[in-house]
Amino acid sequence: MTSHVRLSQPDFAVLGGGLCGRLVAWQLAGAGHRVALYERGPADGSQAAAWVAAAMLAPLAEAASAELLITRLGAASLDAWPRLLADLPEPVFFQRNGTLVVWHHADRTEAPLFERRVRSNAPDDLLDGGFVTLAGAQLGAAEPALAGRFAQGWLLPREGQLDNRQVLNALAAGLAQRGVETHWNTAIGEGSVPPARIVIDCRGLGAKAVMPTLRGIRGEVARVRAPGIGLTRPVRLLHPRYPLYIAPKQDDLYVIGATEVEGEDMSPVSVRSALELLSAAFSVHPGFGEARILELNSQCRPTLPDHRPALVWDGAQTLRVNGLYRHGYMIAPEVADEAVRFASALLDGRIADADAFDGWRQDARWRELFRLDAAREPA
Ligand SMILES: Cc1cc2nc3c(=O)[nH]c(=O)nc-3n(C[C@H](O)[C@H](O)[C@H](O)COP(=O)(O)OP(=O)(O)OC[C@H]3O[C@@H](n4cnc5c(N)ncnc54)[C@H](O)[C@@H]3O)c2cc1C
Repeated sequence: MTSHVRLSQPDFAVLGGGLCGRLVAWQLAGAGHRVALYERGPADGSQAAAWVAAAMLAPLAEAASAELLITRLGAASLDAWPRLLADLPEPVFFQRNGTLVVWHHADRTEAPLFERRVRSNAPDDLLDGGFVTLAGAQLGAAEPALAGRFAQGWLLPREGQLDNRQVLNALAAGLAQRGVETHWNTAIGEGSVPPARIVIDCRGLGAKAVMPTLRGIRGEVARVRAPGIGLTRPVRLLHPRYPLYIAPKQDDLYVIGATEVEGEDMSPVSVRSALELLSAAFSVHPGFGEARILELNSQCRPTLPDHRPALVWDGAQTLRVNGLYRHGYMIAPEVADEAVRFASALLDGRIADADAFDGWRQDARWRELFRLDAAREPA
């Protein structure tokens, strides 16, 4: 463990420096608190699910499989990201140019299912002007690289994406700038929780020993470089097994994903998945045939039984932030904000028992996020 000479314990120890841990630690430090962060992997974030993610910010497209809470968290977070990124010490690629949804003729029965699910799971204010049908030439005009390739599609014009690795880097720089005591390459087990007045556990799947219902859902992605294609926004290809996407980042980099497989399998990408992902990209644009494969990666999404994120208070000095599943980037700003507010109230003693917790939960902006550790919930 990194050694630091300190006169007293920090206000907060944040366990896990993936997406949530970095964001929470950085915000707490910005509010003037003394914060220590412990991450089992290196500073680049390469041990986190956040390292592999495509970082699409697509609340409407995700409404095809996510409930209203997630859609609303996603919409609010999409507005919050630019403000947050503006305060980071390094630039981060962020785009709000929409999502394009297309499908091949053979999969056309997927289209009405997708539309029905989105329309029933998303609020009217997001759908209003947010779900635009494109036919033939309109699709080519919106996304010239795909002109003539698909008969129909939908443009979800308000959606966005960012570069996941740039955010992780910029947050690491932000932690240093705000004086957070960082302990990279330092795994924290249940018997070795470091001293602090309040502990915030953001270890994702690494928190399984204390959150036994947490499970991993494996996702596999390819990163390729494909000069000359020029997609201007993430493209989703409807598919009967899982939603496939191609997310264009800077410098002709594309993230192609993602499988969704039950089970905590962190082994390398299977041949079948690689074939499916790369074939899907090739079927969207033949230019991907000449792309260069930079990486094939797999990771597991930290998931709770109801597929919702949760802020779980243990009734004492620990808050757990977990269950962000496939929506971490999409919802992190709002979830982290709520966690920071709650943790600050814990620190200054405003929440000390189950009644105070209940009062807090009732007044919270995202009250559905809050849970009391199962052992402390009334029967
Ligand atoms: C293939 C794939 C694609 C995805 N695409 C998207 C997307 O397009 N949009 C989107 O919004 N989300 C996406 N996600 C989801 C997103 O990556 C996760 O929701 C998010 O990373 C969860 O953040 P987290 O901080 O809770 O967990 P993580 O990012 O996994 O961070 C947890 C951290 O805790 C550390 N840790 C674990 N155990 C310990 C320990 N004992 N001691 C110290 N540190 C520990 C880990 O090393 C890790 O750094 C995707 C995920 C995957 C796998």
